[in-house]
Amino acid sequence: MVSYRRVVNSQKCVRAGGKHNDLEDVGKDVYHHTFFEMLGNWSFGDYFKVWSIIKNPDVVEIWNLVFMQYNREVNGSLRPLPQCSVDTGMGLERLVTVLQGKRSNYDTDLFTPLLSAIHQCSKAPAYQGRTGEADVGQVDMAYRVLADHIRTLCVCIADGVYPGMTGAELVLRRILRRAVRFSTEVLQAPEGALASLVPTVAHILIMDLINQNEVKFLSSLKQGRRVIDRTLSNMDKDTAVFPALVAWSLHRNLGFPLDLIDLMLEEKGKMVDKKDMTVLEDEYEKLRFQSEEDDGNRVDQLDLHSLAELQSQGVPHTDDSQKYCYSLGSDGQYVFQPCRASVLALYCDGALVSEVNEGQCCGVILDQTSFYAEQGGQATRFTIVVMLLQDVLFPVKSVRLAGGYVVHQVTAGETLRTGDQVELHLDEANRLGCMVKHTTTHLLNFALRELLGPAVNQRGSHCTASRLRFDFSIKGSLSVSELQQVEELVQHIIRQNAEVYMEEVLLSKAKQITGLRTIDEVYPDPVRVVSVAVPVSDLLNSKTSKQASVELCCGTHLLRTGAIGDFVIVSERQMVKGISRILAVTGDEAKKARETGQAMQEELESLAVQVEAASSLSMPAAQMLSKEVGLLMNAVDITPIPQWQRRELQTRLKAMQKTSNTTIRKLEIKEAALKAKELLVKHSNKPVVVDLIQTDSISVLMKTVLQLSKSTPDSMVMLLSHLQLSGKVLCACQVPKGSASGSAIKWAHSVCARLGGNADGSTDVAKGVGNGAWIYPSPPPDP
Ligand SMILES: [Zn+2]
Repeated sequence: MVSYRRVVNSQKCVRAGGKHNDLEDVGKDVYHHTFFEMLGNWSFGDYFKVWSIIKNPDVVEIWNLVFMQYNREVNGSLRPLPQCSVDTGMGLERLVTVLQGKRSNYDTDLFTPLLSAIHQCSKAPAYQGRTGEADVGQVDMAYRVLADHIRTLCVCIADGVYPGMTGAELVLRRILRRAVRFSTEVLQAPEGALASLVPTVAHILIMDLINQNEVKFLSSLKQGRRVIDRTLSNMDKDTAVFPALVAWSLHRNLGFPLDLIDLMLEEKGKMVDKKDMTVLEDEYEKLRFQSEEDDGNRVDQLDLHSLAELQSQGVPHTDDSQKYCYSLGSDGQYVFQPCRASVLALYCDGALVSEVNEGQCCGVILDQTSFYAEQGGQATRFTIVVMLLQDVLFPVKSVRLAGGYVVHQVTAGETLRTGDQVELHLDEANRLGCMVKHTTTHLLNFALRELLGPAVNQRGSHCTASRLRFDFSIKGSLSVSELQQVEELVQHIIRQNAEVYMEEVLLSKAKQITGLRTIDEVYPDPVRVVSVAVPVSDLLNSKTSKQASVELCCGTHLLRTGAIGDFVIVSERQMVKGISRILAVTGDEAKKARETGQAMQEELESLAVQVEAASSLSMPAAQMLSKEVGLLMNAVDITPIPQWQRRELQTRLKAMQKTSNTTIRKLEIKEAALKAKELLVKHSNKPVVVDLIQTDSISVLMKTVLQLSKSTPDSMVMLLSHLQLSGKVLCACQVPKGSASGSAIKWAHSVCARLGGNADGSTDVAKGVGNGAWIYPSPPPDP
């Protein structure tokens, strides 16, 4: 709930007892009820003091508004709250009365069908809406009582509250009896008249709702049925599997419940591929999660009304061609031209305004911009607007595109008016970082398709100045050598310092370029073609047979690939079945990842030599070595190093761990044999052997018990070990198979329980652990 900023709800309210006891008033006037529906809405720091759509003819309280703006401090003063909130409640019945232009709640269509049903079943004179003395014989009052009470009875009983003898149930009993009295004594209605009104209440409160929903769904159902039939007719008759994509679209776009789709297909002897369906669901969840992430930094999205207003005022769309205006200096540095622009419109708190004041958060629309609006997976952040002449900074939080307008999210550093001249300055390091990652993404896409074939399709990408993420479709994970080859091909193009060509081309022409993949997306026309190493004109004239990275893209790119510096894939894994995600780094970060990988490789080689020779080590030394292998494994798992190297190191470390475990097991057996030999001399042929030995391994303790039992098969053996450091006591025992004298688990358990611990095992062998503090130095405390 904490994350909600706007909440609306509808509550069923019964008011017939306690502080607000209206029961006796109900029926006398035209607005008291025992049951009403309360519509609530809350704003938690969101909208505040909005004006209402209702112009109220009479002074009737229809809406109870509570504005929370101040906190009353201890000294009695009012202090503004950090955020203004609204809590409102409005009775549905009164609202309907006002909206339908009636003077009485009973004249609205929430009640009129009930009143005529009462007339039908009682044969009393028709309802005339009279009150007080004019209501001769209280006939109209009886109508109102019945109409009100039967609603309350229906709603309460449906919610599981039955007429009874205590609390709410007693109140309901009184309501029922009051209704029966007015029905039989005043209206002279026959027995059973009250219950005969139930279908009318259900009609008003429930059936209309069902009908409305049915009408809504019926048209979808027809549409969906047509989609299913068309798909089935295009399918091979022998295929039982219905395409998951179609089923998913029925679910997402037409609101078909998934089980209903299954049912409809089952009737036709078909079924949906559940695996494919899971992939689609996972993808959707992932996308939803991403857009939720993005929502976090959205401040003032231009609303539709303001957009329409901008258009009707003839405000031209933002010219954003300057985002491509940069050049590569002779020193290899990128030069970004500052962009001068004038403020055409300001958008603040959901409306277009002519000026904003210092500190206000607003959307700024300029005649032109050099900023890059977030789209196509390239992020923009930390760019800065500087107002000309006054040198005041207006930090730009985000840049978004809305209906042809680029909206700059700005916190005003000073009063800003439409018509003001501003100068735009990029955060150049950030822009360059984004350009590096975006161009690298194109190279990666090209390398993957070049090496793994045309089945590889881009499924999503995102880059910021510091990282690059690329999702693509592929059957399984990439092998070590595939990862190496992809990395090498990208590095090769970087070393070439290949030129990046960008050109606007007619869409129809662009689509003829060989090797260009278009996805099902609406492209602008003309479209921007970005190619690496081969000029766009050569691609158009089919002058070249050279394979090159070519994509339709409106992102900002490097002019030459050399600035990428280096490239390392630091992670590659299957997100969902069939879709892989690559994380990659460039430049210095890539160099660092490579160096770290090398250092880890060297550490592994040194450990490998020791593991091979571990059988000559002492137990503690062998255990220490095994621990070191484990630590390196963890480090290899989480540190950014080349992914191909990570896979290689992981495989080798797993083998080393296995070898190391085998060595430790052998050493344990050796040690246990020695200890058992000593004990055998000490306790020869005793029926019960209990002793303390020195070891901090439960495994050695167990092995010693086993070896000793083997030599004295008729003895019951229990060995204990006190761990000096932790104070724990280890326990292991064995009894002769089928022994009448007791069970091992019971024995171990009774000993360990005494030590405040626990044991597990079987009737033959058991082990456990307890706390030495229970034996020494001080006696156990009273439980
Ligand atoms: Zn791109």
